Amino acid sequence: MPSPTRTYRGTPRNLTRLARRLRAGELVAVPTETVYGLAANALDSAACRRIYQAKGRPSRDPLIVHIHSIEQLAAVAMPNEAAFRLARRFWPGPLTLILPKRPTVPEVVSAGLPSVAVRMPSHPLFRRLLRLAGVPLAAPSANPFGYVSPTSAAHVAAGLGGRIPSILDGGPSRIGLESTIIDIRRPRSPRLLRPGAITQAQLERAL
Ligand code: AMP
Ligand code: MG
Repeated sequence: MPSPTRTYRGTPRNLTRLARRLRAGELVAVPTETVYGLAANALDSAACRRIYQAKGRPSRDPLIVHIHSIEQLAAVAMPNEAAFRLARRFWPGPLTLILPKRPTVPEVVSAGLPSVAVRMPSHPLFRRLLRLAGVPLAAPSANPFGYVSPTSAAHVAAGLGGRIPSILDGGPSRIGLESTIIDIRRPRSPRLLRPGAITQAQLERAL
């Protein structure tokens, strides 16, 4: 039987409550500047498995890990100089870096790959939630698999209502387009894996 989904405004009390639920392994749909995400504690494999269940997402499709600070980057990935350069230029913002994965990140997050996708988002409510949660949060787009990515809390509720307990309402997504994904493991031959809000020309200039 579907359980009710509640939508929360970003009051300090609600943010504290949702951060506590994330730490306890629950899913929370979150606003980001790109599209809404479906977040779980990225270090908790059982919590991350719930993301795949709620979305009906195939387990071979890896998740993006969202971080609050540059210190968290080295806790989940092994960054090189080029990665730090891109991070300084574009974070917080709509750029996702593919880097070698640290063993602390469970296999379910990377879908068994030796790499991990990492991004520092700029949406102020999501940033506050990340800080309060104190752990990196894995989050793909908050839509059922095969559906268009949601850009509002109402859009998330229409797609995943009854399948997730909580949605944090942070207003419409400012960008409304997925993050750009770049594989920067080999700094001399970076690979653009997904076009997005940051253009190839911007990346080339920064590198
Ligand atoms: P979504 O946020 O729903 O677009 O899902 C995240 C996307 O990030 C996945 O569909 C992959 O395309 C990409 N991704 C995540 N981790 C990796 C990785 N380790 N290597 C390559 N692509 C990745
Ligand atoms: Mg998606």
